[in-house]
Amino acid sequence: MGERRGRSVSSDTGSSIYFSCDEELSDEMSAPRLNVLKTKAESRALAETIKVWIVELPVKAANDILIICKDQIPDSDSVDLQHLRRFAKANLLPPYLQPSGSRASSTDSRYSTASSSSTGTKSSSRSRSRMRKRRNSAASTLHLLICPTDVISQADLSSLMMKQPPFAQDGFPLRLREITVPLLAPTSVEQAQQWTAQYWPTLYRKTNPFGPHPSLVARSEEEIRDEASKYMMLARQAAAESSSRQFGIGAGCVIVERKADRHAEIVAVAGDARLSGLGDSINPLSQCSGNIACHAAMRGIGMVARKRVRVASPKTPKDNADIDADELLVKPVHHVKDTPESVSASLLDYPLTDLEQEAFDQDNLIANGYLCVDLEIYMTHEPCLMCSMAIVHSRFSRCIFGTRMPSSGGMAGDSGLGYGLFWRSELNWKLLCWEYTASKGQEMAVLKEDTQV
Ligand SMILES: [Zn+2]
Repeated sequence: MGERRGRSVSSDTGSSIYFSCDEELSDEMSAPRLNVLKTKAESRALAETIKVWIVELPVKAANDILIICKDQIPDSDSVDLQHLRRFAKANLLPPYLQPSGSRASSTDSRYSTASSSSTGTKSSSRSRSRMRKRRNSAASTLHLLICPTDVISQADLSSLMMKQPPFAQDGFPLRLREITVPLLAPTSVEQAQQWTAQYWPTLYRKTNPFGPHPSLVARSEEEIRDEASKYMMLARQAAAESSSRQFGIGAGCVIVERKADRHAEIVAVAGDARLSGLGDSINPLSQCSGNIACHAAMRGIGMVARKRVRVASPKTPKDNADIDADELLVKPVHHVKDTPESVSASLLDYPLTDLEQEAFDQDNLIANGYLCVDLEIYMTHEPCLMCSMAIVHSRFSRCIFGTRMPSSGGMAGDSGLGYGLFWRSELNWKLLCWEYTASKGQEMAVLKEDTQV
């Protein structure tokens, strides 16, 4: 992709990067792109709503009524709704709440005029007169978000309001309405604008309590977008080799270290190898019958660990090492000295193909590194729960995967199993995660829906 100019495009559903800048729209639609994953909490914030009471009232009575609501309605502030404006002028309300469009035709609000039922037809002309006056003085009224509807019934709230000016007998008409609002704070200015138009005036506080800060996502995408396709295609190649040589299913990964100058280097390439050992001709040293856990990510992480040992201790004394550095450079490396052969053969955390070997042989890991901190992992498919947790535990900084695996994947928080393991408040490590859509003709291998990648 290096010779093609890239550009980024934003959408309501999150950032989206197109890698190529072709002239025709049809070409652009088929270009590879990255979409940052929504965290589980962000997905929840998008979906969860709550019903609240609102009322229109004169500006001069607004604060008094708010104080009465806070004092007289227990638990009126039990739900944190600080992302919603407490008061809103009519012209800031969404269309369905606007005076002209909010009569009985509204489908999402309940309309109640508490005063008219008790005064009967005698006061109808007076009511009409008041309504006219109210319409003419709309600029002098506000709409108050009172509290969640499950805190107080409509009857009790009406009764409370009708005891207070300006709603007391023959006063300002009381119109309580039940509306739906988002329960949790928006995570972007676009989301706040959308909710303002759809529900109620909503505030965006330039932070994201449910996921990575937008500026962090933007900065990271800037770093990875030029080379993401290159690494994804290499992972695809590793997957194809693994599959064609019957080591495993058609899944692969590439692990990259990004140096301080942002230059990135490939530190590990691994294909799936869960079938390796099932046939004697594949791995003659193996005494096992195949390890179902030899997924690409697990193997890649294992290779990084071996390289860390090699980089950190090039002259490991042979009498004091579980892993001999020289032994690791022998090709092919089927086991590690002093490690039971069956363990090495079972974990398969050493290269099986030339492609894997080439990356493994490079001593390009930064010295004194720790686990997979600051490393990026590019995967052909969404990792399974085991690999997702391994990626979290290994402390990767970024994960980019190709095909979603709704029945087995552990990263997506907005669909499928919905675990969203890359960013959860109860876990002590978080990373950024993107879904990569390949260009036409370069898609990842199609796997059975319930395959654990
Ligand atoms: Zn896995």
